Amino acid sequence: MNKATRNRAVILDRDGTINVQVDGSYVMHPDQLEILPGVAEVIREINLAGWAVLVVTNQQCVGKGLCTNDDVKCVNDALIARLLKQGAKVDAFVWCPHLKSDDCWCRKPRPGLLYRLAAAYHLDLRECLFIGDSETDMLAARAANCQFYSVKKNIGLAQWDPVKLAKVREIKILGG
Ligand SMILES: [Mg+2]
Ligand SMILES: [Zn+2]
Repeated sequence: MNKATRNRAVILDRDGTINVQVDGSYVMHPDQLEILPGVAEVIREINLAGWAVLVVTNQQCVGKGLCTNDDVKCVNDALIARLLKQGAKVDAFVWCPHLKSDDCWCRKPRPGLLYRLAAAYHLDLRECLFIGDSETDMLAARAANCQFYSVKKNIGLAQWDPVKLAKVREIKILGG
């Protein structure tokens, strides 16, 4: 990614938006990873439109001691590799490893992960679009002045039409 010039990105939630989220459990190993149908096609369209694709995800499983940050990275790397095989490129992942009770700045609905991406990739968050399946995603987007589009859990990104990318600035109310 060209950090000097790229300032727009589509920011995605991970679980329920890119891959299947199972209630009450975490994706802690690549074997548990199931990419939702149609996701690769949409990411490919975003790639072709010239927008970066960045992912923000809460992974409280680390804070609970169920897995490590290396395990989260391993799952994220597997996701990148599998999507790449389908011609879809994800540029980066950032995650919050903390417990909800840690009251950290980065766990969604707080906007810390979005600010971290904005600093690392010189994003103008007002020009970015965040797509996620939960209210915490929406609240994080709102807190960071980032446009938001809501998708249904485990239907995810396939629900979103990349043609809308061209119209992002014109869309006032984004609904799922
Ligand atoms: Mg989600
Ligand atoms: Zn955190």
